[in-house]
Amino acid sequence: MAQDIPKQTSIVIMGGGVIGASVAWHLADAGCTDVVILERGQLACGTTWHSAGNIIRMSSDPKTAQIYSYGVELLSALHERHNIGWRKCGRVMIARTQERLREFETIAKTLDACGVPIEQVAADVVKDKIPVMHTDDVAGALWSPDDGRVNPNDLVEAYVREAKGRGARLCEGVSVNHALTQNGRVTGVSTSQGDIGCDVVVNCTGLWARDLGLRNDVAIPLYPVEHFYLLTESMEGVYPGMPTWRDPDGLIYGREEVGGLLLGCFDRNALPVRPADLPEPFEFALLNENWDQFMPYLEQGLHRIPLLKDVGVKTLLNGPESFTPDSEPILDVAPNLAGYFVLAGLSSAGVTRSAGMARALARWIADGDPGVDVSAFSLSRFGPEDNDEETLRRKVRDAPSGHFDTGH
Ligand SMILES: Cc1cc2nc3c(=O)[nH]c(=O)nc-3n(C[C@H](O)[C@H](O)[C@H](O)COP(=O)(O)OP(=O)(O)OC[C@H]3O[C@@H](n4cnc5c(N)ncnc54)[C@H](O)[C@@H]3O)c2cc1C
Repeated sequence: MAQDIPKQTSIVIMGGGVIGASVAWHLADAGCTDVVILERGQLACGTTWHSAGNIIRMSSDPKTAQIYSYGVELLSALHERHNIGWRKCGRVMIARTQERLREFETIAKTLDACGVPIEQVAADVVKDKIPVMHTDDVAGALWSPDDGRVNPNDLVEAYVREAKGRGARLCEGVSVNHALTQNGRVTGVSTSQGDIGCDVVVNCTGLWARDLGLRNDVAIPLYPVEHFYLLTESMEGVYPGMPTWRDPDGLIYGREEVGGLLLGCFDRNALPVRPADLPEPFEFALLNENWDQFMPYLEQGLHRIPLLKDVGVKTLLNGPESFTPDSEPILDVAPNLAGYFVLAGLSSAGVTRSAGMARALARWIADGDPGVDVSAFSLSRFGPEDNDEETLRRKVRDAPSGHFDTGH
């Protein structure tokens, strides 16, 4: 149900998914408490609620490794206070080829230098950790003991509860139409409940961020694609606390879920989803199962976890997730509209990235300095042609599988 909205505030966060919630938490932590989150449905109702919730600590890029490390720290601290389902189960990332192993060596060196625990291990160690896994073709692996998983909805609740405790306000059932502007800067927002005056807005509307940006001529090149994971009935040998795993050469990943297997993929030739074609409202909603698209990855899964052939499937979850053309998020202020910040296009790692990216954004707003080099996430890396819908639809087709290309 729509709530009363204030007439004036300092900062409006548009969107109450994991990103908007984390931005509110980090703004409050940075001393900015005159903040309102506007969510047109309910918290987490967009993409966040159906996320697999895997939390990554591995990256070949030191800046990203730093962002991820902070995320693991914050999530474990939040779990102490709110039980957000955080489990530090570790992750194995397996290589099928020598080229992949060389990539793993680079990742291991980077993470070592950043003080992140990481080990290069042989196939037999993988087999010990995940006995149901077929490892005859595994050339080697990385073991990251601090990776884990979280319940995304509980994480959102925890971020918002603590932000509200420090003064932030949440208004659900309120849709933002566009930002109000004067002389090239933000002066407020127009919403379904009336106008709110403010100096700063943060666009955290996930897959809808591009369309909302266009209403103020702010180009935010991201686009959703169909994104999948399968959930099975309980399976022998799949145990609570089992490490999460990735098999990048097969474009698949997995973990335990209620005694069964969660098998996900980063598919080639991903299928773009036009946001305007989604039913209204699209809250706690999913796309239809798409077995044709998932089938090559089910085959990879059957190869990797042979017992999969003996268990029933509960569901093939298909949810839209937005990717940018280079699969890096967007964290920036609009070059043509002062006070219009963007944190969106999380490219299938929004839960993992929520803490570190939101901290950088909040510091930028509060102190004028993100505290880390965010140039890789800037809007200026794109040209005007990148926000053309047909160009985006073409480019995002390669974005999910690009995650698992060697050298990414
Ligand atoms: C199948 C699948 C598996 C995934 N697995 C993982 C994983 O294991 N680990 C991981 O880190 N990430 C994972 N992700 C990605 C992660 O879920 C997303 O990156 C993240 O949830 C995006 O959060 P968000 O806040 O940007 O978007 P959303 O959660 O979509 O939030 C945006 C919010 O904005 C609201 N909104 C939109 N327009 C307006 C408006 N005009 N006014 C007001 N509100 C508005 C929407 O209602 C919505 O609630 C997965 C995604 C999918 C689809």
